[in-house]
Amino acid sequence: MLKALIFDVDGTLAETERDGHRVAFNAAFRDAGLDWHWDEQLYGELLRVPGGRERIAHFIERHAPSLDCEWGEVRSIDQLVADLHRGKTAHYTALVAGGQVKLRPPVAELLRAARRAGLRLAIATTTTRANVTALLDHLLPKARDAFDVILTADEVPAKKPDPAIYREALARLRLAPHEAIAVEDSEAGARAALGAGLRVLHVPSVYFPQRVDGVTARLAGCGDDDPADDGLVVRGLADLRAVEQALAA
Ligand SMILES: [Mg+2]
Repeated sequence: MLKALIFDVDGTLAETERDGHRVAFNAAFRDAGLDWHWDEQLYGELLRVPGGRERIAHFIERHAPSLDCEWGEVRSIDQLVADLHRGKTAHYTALVAGGQVKLRPPVAELLRAARRAGLRLAIATTTTRANVTALLDHLLPKARDAFDVILTADEVPAKKPDPAIYREALARLRLAPHEAIAVEDSEAGARAALGAGLRVLHVPSVYFPQRVDGVTARLAGCGDDDPADDGLVVRGLADLRAVEQALAA
């Protein structure tokens, strides 16, 4: 029986990547006097690298941008990455507080229905706790306490698609994999959840529009409905429970 939903954050609760993180990275680069700019397409490619610091390091390594910045001589790449990431986090939290990042309506409805039905809620995300706290404070100020478990990159450093974060979420919820469903937008996220034995509800996002192999169903109303996708679609929690019961039977 379904007892909990475990939510990813970026791309799942909100289009944080396009509207928040990408914009914040560019602002941090500008602050440093760097002439780097990540447009929507380049950012889509960089998203294959999970984790903000890792993404900056990957960009430096692969794209070899100019390292001339207003901070004087760069002491080390690691230091530059850490400083840029700190600046990016400050910009991101300011963007969220300013209302630039919005809760996705179908996911908001799913959250409300799950709370009404008495399901337990958790978060499993590869982003930092500072980012998650800023987002929940702004998007779900009354519902923040509704999450029994919030796991971030600060608690479980292994990044998705490593299943460690979902295993830890299940351990803290004291649930078996068949008692919870993960809600994810990306392939790395879905693979992490599947690797922990969870079923996955896919919520396609701007950067991850395509169905991932192995997911149980897709939530309707998330972006353009893909005509090539002939897999199962659910309209909300009632549908999801019906599917879950059919699978368990
Ligand atoms: Mg995501």
